[in-house]
Parts: sequence; structure tokens; C-alpha cells
Amino acid sequence: MAKGLYVHIPFCTSKCMYCAFYSIPVGDGDPALFERYIDAVLKEAEMIGGIVSGTKFSTIYVGGGTPTKLSPSMFRRLILGLKETFEFEDDIEFTVEANPESLTAEFLKTAVDLGVNRISLGAQYGSDEALRYLGRLHTVKDVEKSVKMIRNHGIDNINLDLIFGLPDESPETWRHTLNWAVSLAPTHISTYSLTVEENTKLKLLVDYGSIKMPSVDRVIELFEIREEVLSAHGFRRYEISNFAIPGFESRHNLIYWKWQKYLGLGASASSFWIIDYELWRWTNLHSVKGYIERLEDGVLPKEFEESIDDNMANLERVFLSLRLSEGLDVKDRFIAQQIGDEFSEFVVVEDTRIKLTFKGMLVADHLAIDIASYLENPD
Ligand code: SF4
Repeated sequence: MAKGLYVHIPFCTSKCMYCAFYSIPVGDGDPALFERYIDAVLKEAEMIGGIVSGTKFSTIYVGGGTPTKLSPSMFRRLILGLKETFEFEDDIEFTVEANPESLTAEFLKTAVDLGVNRISLGAQYGSDEALRYLGRLHTVKDVEKSVKMIRNHGIDNINLDLIFGLPDESPETWRHTLNWAVSLAPTHISTYSLTVEENTKLKLLVDYGSIKMPSVDRVIELFEIREEVLSAHGFRRYEISNFAIPGFESRHNLIYWKWQKYLGLGASASSFWIIDYELWRWTNLHSVKGYIERLEDGVLPKEFEESIDDNMANLERVFLSLRLSEGLDVKDRFIAQQIGDEFSEFVVVEDTRIKLTFKGMLVADHLAIDIASYLENPD
């Protein structure tokens, strides 16, 4: 069974208007802070090493934030430190998230030396106007240059992140963005529908009535265009938001969705691991300062932890399986049909599997709760 290692780099140049990920804006950067943070991550790795001893990780994913805010030498120190502490399979998938405005040839050269074989690039949209609106710091040309540079360094396994469902977005501009993205020949495209999250500028604008998010019907139309354009270019949707050329599905993200073990290091990172025959999940402090100080005091920086009981385990399995295109296998045709009848607007049934319709994808989280309770209590 695959096991993943995630490292969170919570630094960004500035904060995008919609972003609810844990990251702090640091402008051009603060080398002293970055070095202390790397020390803390390596300390966390060392302290937690006992829990995962004997494990060979199948994937490494360095995400953020913006990992490409680190200098090449900082990134080298981080990865070499992790390689000293943990064991890895020979053919690991090693992904680094990058933003076009901060990705450099020097960073890529170092990354390739260290074994990075997949880059996930925050492309987001195929128009400069939309990129400015989202608060992104790059242009369409920057994305094109970055993809070329990544390929010139020998990395062909490239994901492009895209956002859709922007206020006033027309079906034509979304179609244009998708066609532009496939013209760059990535192996994987992640498409996230813009959602209004707490503590974001987007939330303020929506609350004050300055902007209006698209209607459900418009978002479904954008889903349909996404499906049409990407499948016409050989991409297969394997999860609600993720499309890949067959064989290039993200091994790391599949670990999350297939409920396999992962260890997360860094501020706000989450882990899911078996300890003494019990399933545990924990999340680190959402504070760079707190995270560093705890580790400097020799204390693990957990903000929250819980053991997962059977009820929670069932709900999570339903929730995660429904996200995948292969759907939730209830292993019984009769039950599958009953669920199909009960939730007919949101799911389709194929043999013993329940799969989401586009409308179902929009309410996947709520639907998972309803289906899990239906499975527990079919009457
Ligand atoms: S670059 Fe990514 S992580 Fe950073 S603020 Fe923007 S969306 Fe958030």
C-alpha cells in the first residue's frame, strides 16, 4: 500500500483574493525565517521518525504556499535532510508545487538533481485580466515560459492548476482557458471551482454585494465544457477536480482519496497514520511562529488530533470514494439501486457502484453524509 510524505511551505509573495490555504505573505522573502522554518521541519521529521520507522514512502509532495519561494540551496538542505531521516521506494513520485513568477532555472536544476520528477504549476487561468482579478502575480506568458523551462530540465510530468466559476466568467473564456492549457501539453490538469471561503477578500466582496458568484446552472455548464474539452484531448477525469492522461494520475493525491497513510510536515500540515493498531489523524499549528517555537522547545507542534472510530471511518470512506470517478462500491446491487432511487438527481448507479452526476459533484460533501447515514440505516 502506498504511503505519502507531504511537506508544507507556507510562504507566498502576497495573498490571492480567494485563498484559504494556510500561507503567510512575505513579499520578497525573509531568508532567516525560511532557514529557521527548514530547521523546524527537519526537527519535526526527526521527532516523528519513530512513528513511521520501517516505512518506505512512495511519494513526496512539497506544497504550499509557494515552495519556489525557497532558494535552491534551502530546498536542497530540506530535501537532503528528509532523505537522511526517512526511507523511500526506488521509483517515488516526487512533486513540487511551483508558481510561474517565482520558478527559476536554478531551482529546477536543483530539484531535478534531488529527484523531483513532477511539477504542479499554479497556472490558474488563460487570460491576464482574470489572473489580475484573482490577485495572481503572473501572466499567461509567464505560464508558457515556465512550462517550457520545466520541460527543458527534463520534467515532462506536469500538472496545471486551473480555477473556474469566476464571477462574470463566460463559457467562452473558460473554453479558451481549457484549450490554452491543453495546448501546453501537460499530463495532468486540476480544475478547482472558485469557492467563497471564510477570511478571504473574496468573501468580503461577496458579503458586501460587490460581486455575485455564478449560478448553479452556470457552474454545471462550466463542468460540462470542462468534460468535453479535456476528454477530447485524451484526459480522463479520475476525481471530481482532477484529469490526467491515463497513467499520469497523481499517485500522491490518490493516497488521500484511497484512504492510505500519509505523513504531513510543516505548519498546518495534516497526517493520517496507524499508531498501535489505531487510526489517527492530526494537524499541526496554523502558525509559522508557533510551529517553529514549539519545535525549538522540542515539542511536536500538533494543534489537533483524533483517533478515528468506525462511524467516522465509514463516513470518510463514502466521502472519499464518491470523489473518485470509479465511485463508491457498496458491493450489493439492490442497495446500490435503492441509493440510486433515493438520490436520483445526484448519483447514477453502475452495477454496485454509486457515481456522482455533475449536480452531485456540487454537493458531494453533504451527499456523502446522507449516503453514509442511509447505508447505516437503510429504512
Ligand atoms: S499562491 Fe497559492 S497558496 Fe499562495 S496565496 Fe495564492 S492561492 Fe494561496
